[in-house]
Amino acid sequence: MEVITTVSEMRQKVRAARFAAKWVGLVPTMGALHEGHGSLIQRAVSECDTVIVSIFVNPTQFGPNEDLARYPRTLDADIRYCEKLGAHWIFAPSVEEMYPQEQLAWVNVEKVTEGLCGARRPGHFRGVATVCAKLFNIIQPDVAYFGQKDAQQAVVIQTMVRDLNFPLEIRVCPTVRDKDGLALSSRNQYLSKAERKKALCLSKALQKCRELIQSGQTNPDEIRRAVLPFFDQPEVFLEYFELVDPQTLRPLAEIRGPVLAAAAARVGTTRLIDNLLIDLQTPSA
Ligand code: AMP
Repeated sequence: MEVITTVSEMRQKVRAARFAAKWVGLVPTMGALHEGHGSLIQRAVSECDTVIVSIFVNPTQFGPNEDLARYPRTLDADIRYCEKLGAHWIFAPSVEEMYPQEQLAWVNVEKVTEGLCGARRPGHFRGVATVCAKLFNIIQPDVAYFGQKDAQQAVVIQTMVRDLNFPLEIRVCPTVRDKDGLALSSRNQYLSKAERKKALCLSKALQKCRELIQSGQTNPDEIRRAVLPFFDQPEVFLEYFELVDPQTLRPLAEIRGPVLAAAAARVGTTRLIDNLLIDLQTPSA
């Protein structure tokens, strides 16, 4: 397992792999890897000749009052985990390597960034799209893997790739959850035992939402009313619970087809997100 820290070495390595006609897969991450990341890496390993996991806590996607400073950094354990899963290289550049001077060029994806997390985290998706564009240009993968856990991020990146003609394919992998339903997240480490229990409000509310839709409820306002009690707990603050079109991410007035139910809540000081793609044609989605 080789850990590459500079842009020039990364480019050189990938050039050699591509020259040998290798199919190159990239799994972009911020590290503190868990089985959610692991599922992306495993899929990449099963589908590509060369798999690169990037580990970079990207400062440009954090707002001024967010958790950039305390975000977990566990590079040694991450290296061992990637090795175990059969990834080939880790790209772990420093902030100075990725942003050696003031960044003047940015990628702004419109409309799909307006709602959900985009409305609550100004500049977040500009930072995400820009760092992914940089990673795609440095590594030039044939395919990049993202998690459904960050549904809006996946849509933003797919839109960027489509509209700016990036020569790669985006594959979105299902959300990995703990046995009790909590979606795995690097931020779960922040939760105390009591908070972790409270954090189940997200997955429980989403399950309830799915049940209601399966039993014929088509009114998003009624569904929102029915799930609100899950968030009615001390130290829990619901940011949003929305039912949107899975492609445009626009709020639905009525549920007639596939729906993305997406939620964000703060539990104590930890901000968590989760979502479910609900399609009555494929009830297990
Ligand atoms: P992060 O390190 O949080 O930026 O996540 C890196 C990638 O892993 C993103 O594409 C996430 O959507 C994905 N990911 C994070 N948590 C999960 C999970 N529980 N299940 C599946 N994918 C995940």
